[in-house]
Amino acid sequence: MGRIRVLSDLVANKIAAGEVVERPASVVKEVLENSLDAGATEFRLDIEAGGRRLIRLADNGIGMMRDDALLAFERHATSKLSDIKDLLSIATLGFRGEALPSIASVSRLVLETRAREESSGTVVEIAGGKILRCEDLARAAGTTITVRDLFYNVPARKKFLRTEQTETAHVASLITHYSLAHPGKSFVLRHNNSELLDVTPVATARERVFQVFGSRVLEDLLDLGEQERTFPIPAEDNDARARSVRLRGFVSGPQIQKLNRNSIYLFVNGRLIRDRLLLHAISSAYHNLMPPACYPFALLFLDCDPEEVDVNVHPSKTEVRFRHGPILHDFVRDAIRDVLMAQRPVSRIPSPAQLAAELPYSEFTQRVQNMTLPIAEPAAVPENPSALPEFVLKRPASPPRFDFSEAPAAQQPDQKLPIPDTHGPLFPGGTLPEPESLEALKDLRPLGQIHDSFIIAAGRDGLWIIDQHVAHERILFEQVLAARNRRAVETQGLLLPLVIQLTAAQQLEYARIADELNALGFDTEPFGNRTIAVKSAPVCVGPAEIEKVVFEILEISERELRKTSVEDLRRAMAASIACRAAIKINMKLEPAKMDWLLRALALTSSPMSCPHGRPIALRYATRDILKSFHRI
Ligand code: ADP
Ligand code: MG
Repeated sequence: MGRIRVLSDLVANKIAAGEVVERPASVVKEVLENSLDAGATEFRLDIEAGGRRLIRLADNGIGMMRDDALLAFERHATSKLSDIKDLLSIATLGFRGEALPSIASVSRLVLETRAREESSGTVVEIAGGKILRCEDLARAAGTTITVRDLFYNVPARKKFLRTEQTETAHVASLITHYSLAHPGKSFVLRHNNSELLDVTPVATARERVFQVFGSRVLEDLLDLGEQERTFPIPAEDNDARARSVRLRGFVSGPQIQKLNRNSIYLFVNGRLIRDRLLLHAISSAYHNLMPPACYPFALLFLDCDPEEVDVNVHPSKTEVRFRHGPILHDFVRDAIRDVLMAQRPVSRIPSPAQLAAELPYSEFTQRVQNMTLPIAEPAAVPENPSALPEFVLKRPASPPRFDFSEAPAAQQPDQKLPIPDTHGPLFPGGTLPEPESLEALKDLRPLGQIHDSFIIAAGRDGLWIIDQHVAHERILFEQVLAARNRRAVETQGLLLPLVIQLTAAQQLEYARIADELNALGFDTEPFGNRTIAVKSAPVCVGPAEIEKVVFEILEISERELRKTSVEDLRRAMAASIACRAAIKINMKLEPAKMDWLLRALALTSSPMSCPHGRPIALRYATRDILKSFHRI
């Protein structure tokens, strides 16, 4: 007697219905979740042409009996659910009995399987939903599902697939995430026969993070340990048992600032989800520690009673509804906050009590109701492929601090001043120069520096204050771009090649931009598995900065992927080089150097803002100076 049953209409109708197969990554998600549900410990995934041509997953799970192997392709046929009550506490990843029939209807599928308790196996072949073959097969226990020619019979759907590169990135992201959730299991991913991920079983999540991201990322992460909160059920709830939730995982310190939420990975009871409530909890934990609109890296595993979470909300099962959302929200926020606090000097951090007062949950829910969500998409992976695991970039600790005291400021090479968000006068009387005053730039005379950071200069139209870092950044940006376009970037060979380890996603990214990197003066080549060697770099980039620039460029390239304009990407890369190579603030400059800087600035095409859009100079017009002294 098989394990699979066809659900009654009553149950089937209660299941969130909808299309699950959207792209190769959604097929991978469904088959991978099936293998996990089948208790497999080894997963081997091969894809070709971004998964359009081939997706094959082999597992060593419990396998399927002969009858089940056919029944599995009926709609609403599942071994994981039988009764309507089961829907209230789903402990498996699948439960809808829809994935296999959906996938089989839009591809050529072969299922090869053998149940552990049976001596012979079965092969079932289906194309476009039609069963072509069902025979005995000798094989080891476990299941292999091969999906070829996805959407071969639905050309309209095929059109929506993105490039091979992007589809592969989505698949890589998915497998990487699941491998992080199951450190004790082994995962292999190969694309067009080249290996993108191969992780062997390890004892701890920490070791798995190391396998996937490398030691650099691990150093930046704080371990949340195992935290648990038991909470009494609110009085109005009939089910009066006390509940407990457990949280473990890793978060980055506030110095890691991501530009989107794509480095936040959430697992609830082993299921990868996107959830705005938890995303908000994470952001609140970093409140006041990180500028708004920046996000940390977070890998969180939340475990609770299956009754506490409703996964039957969306067909792709990536959205959930929590029964006691506010409690979970505050628990996650406080747990992360505590770990962050333990890392930082106390004086600069508001207490959790203050924080709670700042962001009461009720206010959040109100705000959130009017919000459009970046996560309301059915795919398991966020639309943007930069959701991939990636190396994190170190940015200056935040909020940026600048010492305006009279004492010489400490050397803080990476510190940046706050970026003003208005373009109005910054100091009384000082304004951003008008376009017609640019002429005056040519004969500015540097008088000195304030705080070793700003050049004071006299001009024929008044007094100028120039931010030395952003001014230099603008100069270098234009020089780098011009040299690149002439294919004449000056490079320096490295005594020893710098070997950099990449994540699977970065490796894909690297393959895409290697030529452009080369044109910008980084001579790199693949160096074994997920590793590249940098053999030379542009002369303007100091040896200590090379690795940072390469990672920053890989990150930009992921972000800019969707813009697709090569020109944009090139400019962003040049901006990154310029920023790293430019003189810093809190740095004393010789008069000759200041003079050079001002003259070089005057020669740039856009001397008033840096490539990132920050202002470079402030001007006190002679007229205003005269007025202030009542001379006119
Ligand atoms: P669901 O996962 O929602 O039950 P699916 O259509 O994904 O529905 O799968 C149907 C059934 O096929 C599952 O309930 C399970 O019994 C069986 N099955 C699918 N994949 C595997 C696998 N890799 N190993 C063992 N059984 C599997
Ligand atoms: Mg399933």
